[in-house]
Amino acid sequence: EITLLELEKRYGETTAVEDVSVEITDGELLCLLGPSGSGKSTTLRMIAGLETPTSGTIRIGGEDVTDHPAYDRNTSTVFQDWALFPHKSVLENVAFGLKMRGVPKEQRHERAEEMLERVQMSGYGDHDPTNLSGGQKQRVALARSLAVNPDVLLLDEPLSNLDKRLREDMQIELREIHEDLEETFVHVTHDQDEAFTLADRIGIMNEGELIQVGDPDEIYENPKNRFIEGFLGDTN
Ligand code: ATP
Ligand code: MG
Repeated sequence: EITLLELEKRYGETTAVEDVSVEITDGELLCLLGPSGSGKSTTLRMIAGLETPTSGTIRIGGEDVTDHPAYDRNTSTVFQDWALFPHKSVLENVAFGLKMRGVPKEQRHERAEEMLERVQMSGYGDHDPTNLSGGQKQRVALARSLAVNPDVLLLDEPLSNLDKRLREDMQIELREIHEDLEETFVHVTHDQDEAFTLADRIGIMNEGELIQVGDPDEIYENPKNRFIEGFLGDTN
């Protein structure tokens, strides 16, 4: 599991994350939901080891990883701007992390094929990623992140560049992939429909604080304060 304990991140005068404490259980899909600038990405980046907290503790699988570099944590991140390598084939993209870990070619290609199948992209292995649609690129990015078998998959607004229809399809697919894999996902979004579709639990953030964590029904029926009530009522 992942434990975040009183996480704080300051950039000079700006406090990006002020007080984030939560326990994320194995196999859970937690959505961090909140308006722009509320500290969602910063929290995710601290879990990934891409930012060092100013104070607080991060434990993954019981181990204190607060001072461990990113490469020393078994997390994998999918970002909004699916950075696929343009000069590599789809298969090479998916197999990239395995290559870095020294997995022999035959094995990593086999695993990559398996992951492409999981995201419904089998048959695309030899394609050039630059010619894929947005949704297809994001599927490949997802396959690439899953290929290394991370303890935790971190997703930062992975669907927000897709049009509404495709986004809704991908939400359902992501949910299915998660149910299949039973891995821990932390998914950041500012889209409440997305959070309510995907999440086992939702963590609501505002101004750097995690102000309520609960399952979707609980949050919907018992918003802890006016801010959450207003945020959920706002259908934009
Ligand atoms: P969005 O929904 O717009 O992506 P967010 O919830 O992911 O927002 P963060 O990116 O975590 O928000 O940013 C939280 C706050 O910290 C913002 O006020 C932001 O300007 C600030 N911030 C984030 N990264 C840095 C940085 N590298 N240097 C200075 N300030 C930063
Ligand atoms: Mg963000």
